[in-house]
Amino acid sequence: MTPEEFRTHAHELVDWMADYMAGIEERPVRAQTAPGEIAAKLPATAPEKAEAMADIFADFERDILPGVTNWQHPSFFAYFPANSSPPSVLAEMLTATLAAQCMLWQTSPAGTEVETRMMEWLRGMLDLPQHFQGVIQDSATSATLVALLTARERATGWRANNEGLAALGAQGRKLTVYVSEEAHSSIEKTMKVAGYGAENLRKIPADREFAMQPAELAAAIEADIAAGFTPACVTACIGGTGTGAMDPLVPIGEICRRHNIWFHVDAAWAGSALILPECRHLVDGLEHADSFVFNPHKWLMTNFDCTAYFVADPDALERTLSLVPEYLRSRETGHVIDYQNWSVPLGRRFRALKLWFVIRSYGVEGLRSLIRNHIALAEELFEQVSGEADFDILSPLRLSLFSFRYHPAGIEDEAALDALNLRLIETLNDSGLLYLTQNRVRGKFAIRFQIGQTTTTKHHVEAAWSFIRETAHGLNA
Ligand SMILES: *Cc1c(COP(=O)(O)O)cnc(C)c1O
Repeated sequence: MTPEEFRTHAHELVDWMADYMAGIEERPVRAQTAPGEIAAKLPATAPEKAEAMADIFADFERDILPGVTNWQHPSFFAYFPANSSPPSVLAEMLTATLAAQCMLWQTSPAGTEVETRMMEWLRGMLDLPQHFQGVIQDSATSATLVALLTARERATGWRANNEGLAALGAQGRKLTVYVSEEAHSSIEKTMKVAGYGAENLRKIPADREFAMQPAELAAAIEADIAAGFTPACVTACIGGTGTGAMDPLVPIGEICRRHNIWFHVDAAWAGSALILPECRHLVDGLEHADSFVFNPHKWLMTNFDCTAYFVADPDALERTLSLVPEYLRSRETGHVIDYQNWSVPLGRRFRALKLWFVIRSYGVEGLRSLIRNHIALAEELFEQVSGEADFDILSPLRLSLFSFRYHPAGIEDEAALDALNLRLIETLNDSGLLYLTQNRVRGKFAIRFQIGQTTTTKHHVEAAWSFIRETAHGLNA
């Protein structure tokens, strides 16, 4: 394809992209396809001969697009948002065009320096501790893996990287990690990957408000030490995935300091809300954390992937991950940041560019008002659902997330209520008009509702709620 041909196709595609954004509400939120349906439309083997872009694009629209869940739909209330925005998409077009690898300062100085500056901007926007230094990772899971690797190194006196897990065996002390029972599954997954072993994860009971109980944490740590384990890391969550749980950082940080344990804070979703001064109290005590992660690719209008990972001590991070063979040396090695030493993958996209576009394009004030609006919409809806006789609130409002279930008079059997609510959510999601996620809260089948898409307005929330009520009443009729 010549640059001139590219120009023509790109203009067509940009027109299509703008039309997609403008007309997204005519599409179903969740893809309405069955397993295998999309694969059946693709040839079993790759084409030998070149094909025309017009054909490829026509097939994209006809065969591929129906199998895409439209995450940017304003009636997307499932999972957490993975919101995007026009400035973010524009920057991604540039990033893809430059296709620069930003692993070393020298392989793209702007990649490194814009990233450093954007992490400083975010640190200021979220009012994070001044000594934190940030790096972009591909996901919160990767950031947590890096935190656990660094914690592992620190807990083994920087030996595990070199000696392998035998370093733990020789000491005869297994490393343990602590989370609340509300924590995200990525912690257990990365524990497996980092060699801790899933059985050395301790799930600390949460209180009635779903927050980790510091006294239970302290007791578990002391029992483990007495039993010959080495507590290596505590991960607190600010905005747990199921119920938006908020762990108390001050007492947890105090326990970590007392026992010299790595203190990691996972605010993957809720972190973006810290740009609101009225939310900043949620992370009181953060100055005692060793690491903190949040995802601008969830709720800060910046499309996936863009995870901001902050550490108190970048030297510990580099000491854990740095490996500089001759071909990765440059004149500047040691005098500049080479971000390949701050993350597991070597290759790195120029992801800071989209943050730069998004933050400048909205201004911090613009971003604040979007998130504030999401929270206000959730507060209104929460009030309304709380006032309905035939709906139960199963988890309280946390920022813009809560969960509920349908509970019509006369049905008291828990299994029947579970089945009714499963039918309800499947009917709702099959309609394509909105998209919600199921969960279990203290054993009860729950429907989660979160608001965070870039273009969601009051009208979408109100329409969703009347549709939920009607559908629920219809099922019970
Ligand atoms: C979404 C989420 C994660 C995982 O995020 P990825 O970037 O997809 O790895 C981890 N923790 C919490 C609390 C989350 O909400």
